[in-house]
Amino acid sequence: MKKTYLFANWKMYLDYDESNILANAIALASKDFSPNIEMAVFPSSIAFYPVCQVLSDVGIDCGPQNAYWTEKGGYTGEVSAEIYKMAGAKYSLVGHSERRHVFGETEEEINKKMQSCLDWNLTPILCVGETLDQRKEGIAKDVVKKQLEKALDGLNFKEVKELFVAYEPVWAIGTGESCSVVDAQSMQGEIKKWVKELLVGLDLDLKVLYGGSVRPENVVQYVENEEIDGVLVGGASTKMDSWLKIAQAI
Ligand code: PEP
Repeated sequence: MKKTYLFANWKMYLDYDESNILANAIALASKDFSPNIEMAVFPSSIAFYPVCQVLSDVGIDCGPQNAYWTEKGGYTGEVSAEIYKMAGAKYSLVGHSERRHVFGETEEEINKKMQSCLDWNLTPILCVGETLDQRKEGIAKDVVKKQLEKALDGLNFKEVKELFVAYEPVWAIGTGESCSVVDAQSMQGEIKKWVKELLVGLDLDLKVLYGGSVRPENVVQYVENEEIDGVLVGGASTKMDSWLKIAQAI
């Protein structure tokens, strides 16, 4: 049976105590999750270590929402892929649209973050997606293809043999307006084709997720689609009630 990836991006919604309470509740409920679900949580940096400890005990992996590319040094305010790896991370989000659009993260920085994840044996979840204006202009696919080309340029995969791409249309993130399954499926299919072309010769395990206003009411339509391997969920993953409903829907 198809494995379904349920990834929770807690963004900056939860403080330290709230993160730990939610992690403990997830750990407690995890024995009832379907064995076909592969769950991962992306907590804030302050809560990363304890959340990771609690969840790893029940087989749920964690990753940072963002990780800096250099190793230890004078980089005030940053946390590197190396430090997250040592704290127990398996994954890292890279190039989330809020990083791109709120913090001005560039394609070059995203490319460096991708390589540092690979260098530290973290599986990257590369986030891509077009803005509403770009979709209206009819250039959504060109935009996503270019994001992939830049992010994957020259990468050396070494030991990591898997890659996740999360297709997250910017206009669907946190807005309550989700992408139609037809549009998501069409983009996911193209993403799989482009990544294979860009990383030709590499036998990678590629998974493509959908993200953007996934809720308990609409999750099934995405995950039952052949092209969609799972979902990256923001807001609805930060409350036990909706996260449980999402997990139970699968
Ligand atoms: C996200 O932050 O990756 C996301 C998809 O957010 P939301 O589910 O809140 O739209």
